[in-house]
Amino acid sequence: MERIGHYIGGKHVPGESGRRGPVFDPATGEQTHEVDFADPTDLDKAVDAAKEAFPGWRATSLSKRAEIMFTIRELLDARKTDVAKVLTAQHGKVLSDAIGEVSRGLENVEYATAIPHLLKGGFSEQASSGVDVFEVRQPVGVVAGITPFNFPAMVPIWMCANAIACGNTFILKPSEKDPGPSLVLADLFAEAGLPDGVFNVVQGDRVAVDGILEHPDIRAVSFVGSTPIAKHIYTTGTANGKRVQALGGAKNHMVVLPDADVDMVADAAVSAGYGAAGERCMAISVLTNVGGIADTVVDAIADRIPKVKVGPGMDPESDMGPLITREHRDRVASYLDSGPAQGARVVVDGREHDLYKQDKGFFLAPSLIDDVTPQMDAYKDEIFGPVLAVTRMETYEQAVDLVNRNPYGNGVALFTRDGGAARQFVFEVEAGMVGINVPIPVPVAYYSFGGWKHSLFGDAHMYGPEGIRFYTRGKVVTQRWPDPATSTVDLGFPRTR
Ligand code: NAD
Repeated sequence: MERIGHYIGGKHVPGESGRRGPVFDPATGEQTHEVDFADPTDLDKAVDAAKEAFPGWRATSLSKRAEIMFTIRELLDARKTDVAKVLTAQHGKVLSDAIGEVSRGLENVEYATAIPHLLKGGFSEQASSGVDVFEVRQPVGVVAGITPFNFPAMVPIWMCANAIACGNTFILKPSEKDPGPSLVLADLFAEAGLPDGVFNVVQGDRVAVDGILEHPDIRAVSFVGSTPIAKHIYTTGTANGKRVQALGGAKNHMVVLPDADVDMVADAAVSAGYGAAGERCMAISVLTNVGGIADTVVDAIADRIPKVKVGPGMDPESDMGPLITREHRDRVASYLDSGPAQGARVVVDGREHDLYKQDKGFFLAPSLIDDVTPQMDAYKDEIFGPVLAVTRMETYEQAVDLVNRNPYGNGVALFTRDGGAARQFVFEVEAGMVGINVPIPVPVAYYSFGGWKHSLFGDAHMYGPEGIRFYTRGKVVTQRWPDPATSTVDLGFPRTR
């Protein structure tokens, strides 16, 4: 069995803990690799390498750092299919979607090429007589990123592009379910000229994560994953004096007003509900129809579902691949039993698909449940799979109230042709990312990504301008160059006027 190890100080190194986990090809259900699980000794080595690299890297000129970012950009663009193939082999998503994932990561590298501009501080001449004040932003030191299985290339790049460009050194702890892309990125960064120790990868499970949270030399932690773990990361990391941004789970609603175009709504719901087998934190998982439009929308979605081709991610004919593991697939499928048991109606049951019945690979075809109410598990839980729940509301106000009461607040979408209603929705909806006739409103790299409520613990959203702030500390300098002859003793508090 091929082993996947760590990447520390510019070298691929095997783990020493003796603990390992399986990596599967979700399309076949076969185990393809074993991944090493770090213990505190492995982590210490990575932290030592990152600490050693930090002084040289933070002293590297902004133009040199930008040049390396440009080279990473070129290499990643040229090799995005290679990265995507590794990603599809371990995650399962279809290759075109995996290439799309790498491309969205690439946008963050492009943003980070502007680091000389992004780190410009402010300067106030003559803040007081003969006194100037300026601010610089400096890197925080060794920082760590802990990432989920569902975007094994893009989410690490969300974090490390800005972190590294700001002058920090970085330790990535990828998901143990699909750790392969992390090492492809490490090799690519090295080829682009990133000095050894600036980017390190430590594979593992909660032992590695808890080691990161407790390590005294790691100054900041970025996390993306499920809500219970995000909360644990935030509380433990901040209790240990680190700055932490921890992005959690989601339950994204798509609110459909009665004036919306039904075909456009159905196309968007199918694309956003079943793309990547629903394993996107910005996937639409609840469709909230307002007024009498519900029946036609449900029919239009049900018409489209059989046309979604489910199959292995490497098959160019496939639109949707398998789920990440058998356990997760079975948990997702269980809502097709608990839903009707609690009063919902299964319109399309993905377990009727041949690939599910053959039980080869971790497939579940698109499924649709109607008449879901807020009390049901299919509404309350983050299902994180290709099961779309439909709720029906009488009025716009009820729909907004439903969204705002939901404990998650990652993304939300409104479909309408009424500009006034859309504007009001943007004003009052409680979510961090809003789409108007856009079902998956993932912000471009020059804005920042983050949810509200239980979808984010911490103050800073990820990447973009907030990412630059998260990975830097402000330092404000007050200076004067007076004539020594004018110097006197003055015990009063310095005044500016
Ligand atoms: P997860 O929370 O199970 O794992 C995320 C990371 O935490 C992994 O690196 C994992 O090794 C580690 N981890 C898991 N259990 C742990 C524990 N008990 N203690 C310490 N560390 C632990 O999430 P996942 O299943 O990999 O990813 C799916 C989840 O991520 C979904 O909830 C999804 O909504 C969320 N997600 C959110 C966003 C966002 O931007 N808000 C983006 C992508 C994914």
